[in-house]
Amino acid sequence: MMPEERADVLVIGSGAAGAAVTKRLADFGVQVVCLEQGEWVKPADYPSTHAEWEIQLRRGTFHFSPNIRQRDEDYPVVPAGVNPPNVLMFNAVGGSTLHWTGHFPRFHPSDFRVKTLDGVADDWPIRYQDLEPYYDMNDREMGVAGLAGDPANPPRSSRPTPPLPLGQLGETIGRGFDKLGWYWWVSDNAIISRDYEQRPACDLHGKCMFGCPIGSKASTDVTYWPKALRKGAVLKTWARVREITLDAKGRARGAIYYDRQGRLHEQRARVVVISANGIGTPRLLLNSKSKLFPQGLANSSGLVGKNFMIHPFRFLEGVFEQRMDGHDGPFGIPAFSQQFYETDLKRGFLRGYTFLLERSFGPLHHAWGGFANQPVPWGARHHRVMRQRFPHIIRITILGEDLPEESNRVELDPEAKDSSGVPAPRVSYTYSENSLKMLDHGSAMARQALQAAGAIETLDSGIIVPAFHLLGTARMGTDPGRSVVTAWHQAHDVKNLFVVDGSSFATSAAVNPTSTIGALALRCADGIWEHRREWS
Ligand SMILES: Cc1cc2nc3c(=O)[nH]c(=O)nc-3n(C[C@H](O)[C@H](O)[C@H](O)COP(=O)(O)OP(=O)(O)OC[C@H]3O[C@@H](n4cnc5c(N)ncnc54)[C@H](O)[C@@H]3O)c2cc1C
Ligand code: SF4
Repeated sequence: MMPEERADVLVIGSGAAGAAVTKRLADFGVQVVCLEQGEWVKPADYPSTHAEWEIQLRRGTFHFSPNIRQRDEDYPVVPAGVNPPNVLMFNAVGGSTLHWTGHFPRFHPSDFRVKTLDGVADDWPIRYQDLEPYYDMNDREMGVAGLAGDPANPPRSSRPTPPLPLGQLGETIGRGFDKLGWYWWVSDNAIISRDYEQRPACDLHGKCMFGCPIGSKASTDVTYWPKALRKGAVLKTWARVREITLDAKGRARGAIYYDRQGRLHEQRARVVVISANGIGTPRLLLNSKSKLFPQGLANSSGLVGKNFMIHPFRFLEGVFEQRMDGHDGPFGIPAFSQQFYETDLKRGFLRGYTFLLERSFGPLHHAWGGFANQPVPWGARHHRVMRQRFPHIIRITILGEDLPEESNRVELDPEAKDSSGVPAPRVSYTYSENSLKMLDHGSAMARQALQAAGAIETLDSGIIVPAFHLLGTARMGTDPGRSVVTAWHQAHDVKNLFVVDGSSFATSAAVNPTSTIGALALRCADGIWEHRREWS
């Protein structure tokens, strides 16, 4: 095995977090190398540019689930627990942002203080104010469409581009919320509505989750990476990290990785940053066992992999007489409501949820059952029901706050391995009673809103366990017995090792996480740079 030239900073993973931390450090002139197990995906290869794009929902090499895709660069994820999660992620340059919808909300200030406010979980060791400048910086780097002035959130700078159109669907459900006197607002989306930094404005063609063919959606392969590479960062693809190596003093020395031909290399660095997502990161730490760290690296608390959070989800679809054309226009959420966001004990559960007012896919998806998973029947009624539903549906997604529980966890599976023979993760998840009550409440309220908007029928998904917000498995905190990393993402146990991605979350809030992941990554980079004199 050949050791490679030592970098200042080694970053593992090139998704939302890894791209942001690399670009920020490269801006300071730091010599950064990023190892990514996947490769660049060419827009021409995206299913969105092919007629059979909807088939990819069920099978194919661009499927959301690594267990179905089974590309060489994927690793299997073994689901377990009472509610085994359906884990969705992508392994390529840009990571899961190639698939993501781009909905880009921020945490509320209260989300950092749930222990103080509600006596549950833990407060974060940082405040909204600490992250605010980094949220703004990340918005500018990614390119966002939205409308400042949301009365339920702290004021924010004017959005880089104006809001995306609401469409018939957004206007209709907005009228329903107005009728009930419930608050709603136009969503921030990491999709540009005007030409921005050499990227073209969204042309509203609506297949964002199958890869944006023109680069209007902010996947980090088209946002951070071109800028980071121009600044001198090095990105090595097909570089699958097996473990983090240590020097004689127990400091991180670098990482051992497999290249595409299966050859082993060691990349050395003065500082190592892991950004492999809320499952990939604990997997790598647990695979990095040594005499000094027999339970896995940075795991003296025993909390690596524990407190896995995913956000409780439930989908309600309203069928309307008029066309809603939900398959047209950007999949980024047109509007949202946080009417039931903060704790109200009268509802019977702690914390709260966001309503995402959303579009859907094309005709095949509806025939298969849509998001509510209620297939259009075969036989005599097929055409009538199909014509009623497509394109006549508005979806409300209930996205709740998931509270951390140690029994929800990522471990190494004793049998499953990736194509290089590296042990794969097993992910156990069980819905808490609090989450189930929250989803029941959300379902009843969503039905009310759809009916107020004029729905003639509502379809409810019931309990589902999609897992694409992967959070909490190397949580931040001040107490080394109750957390894995500090408020600056530095491992309590290994001073030149940093973890920044969804695993750093102390709690999940009730919003999509990626604007917070990007903001944390930029702040982590600033912390690494400020302490550069301490690098070995
Ligand atoms: C279908 C879908 C829709 C989504 N929609 C939204 C949304 O609307 N809004 C939102 O906020 N979030 C959304 N998300 C979630 C969002 O994509 C993630 O939160 C975000 O991408 C996480 O960033 P990350 O950098 O932590 O991980 P990722 O983006 O998953 O990147 C991790 C990278 O690390 C690499 N890696 C892992 N292990 C190794 C290893 N051992 N060696 C080398 N490389 C490794 C992987 O290949 C991958 O490229 C969605 C996700 C999916 C799947
Ligand atoms: S709707 Fe816009 S963001 Fe989505 S794939 Fe089409 S051009 Fe890209």
